[in-house]
Amino acid sequence: MKVFSSFPDFLLYALRGQVVSANTKFRKKVTPQHRRRSAFYAPCSISFIVNLPVMILSYPVFRWMGLKTSLPLPHWSVIFSQIIFYFILEDFVFYWGHRVLHTKWLYKHVHSVHHEYATPFGLTSEYAHPAEILFLGFATIVGPALTGPHLFTLWLWMVLRVLETVEAHSGYHFPWSPSNFLPLYGGAEFHDFHHRALYTKSGNYSSTFTYMDRIFGTDADYWKLKTLESNRGKAL
Ligand SMILES: [Zn+2]
Ligand SMILES: [Zn+2]
Repeated sequence: MKVFSSFPDFLLYALRGQVVSANTKFRKKVTPQHRRRSAFYAPCSISFIVNLPVMILSYPVFRWMGLKTSLPLPHWSVIFSQIIFYFILEDFVFYWGHRVLHTKWLYKHVHSVHHEYATPFGLTSEYAHPAEILFLGFATIVGPALTGPHLFTLWLWMVLRVLETVEAHSGYHFPWSPSNFLPLYGGAEFHDFHHRALYTKSGNYSSTFTYMDRIFGTDADYWKLKTLESNRGKAL
């Protein structure tokens, strides 16, 4: 078993696609080399072709909306409350956007790209159709767009959001991960289920938390499976 000395060590390992399943009984295979390579080059290309122009073009818009770049930095309580607001809003918008992507036509022509990896690892969090990157990227920027934060807060939010999605796709649930302190956090096991199931029955559509799926009943199959697993564990 691979032992990680720190969270960054794990992230690097997960990003390289070396991850085998640790938290489920369903994934025992290492992703083949050529598949890992494509999961690396595709997000890199998309970052240059889609993300970079969007970032450059959106900068004047953010400035117009009140983005600040000068010192002093905002008080930590402002940064903290804005980041929490962004996580909650992103999760809400992402949930509905993701559900729309699971309708027949959009899944077939757009979202199936992200689902090519039934056993995801870190880099596959960014492996998606360019249209999906643009569509779900809206969930990430809507919070900052509404509040006009400091540039520091914006970048901190982006870093935390990427770390969160890499962890959700890593295939690992670590007891020492800082995300465990977030109430109602979904994590890798929760999102793994989404990648394993058929597109019509996926469920677990949220990006960060579990409560949206709980409210709308889209996590029912996941909890059924968890109950089965725990009953099987007790019977052994
Ligand atoms: Zn999906
Ligand atoms: Zn995913």
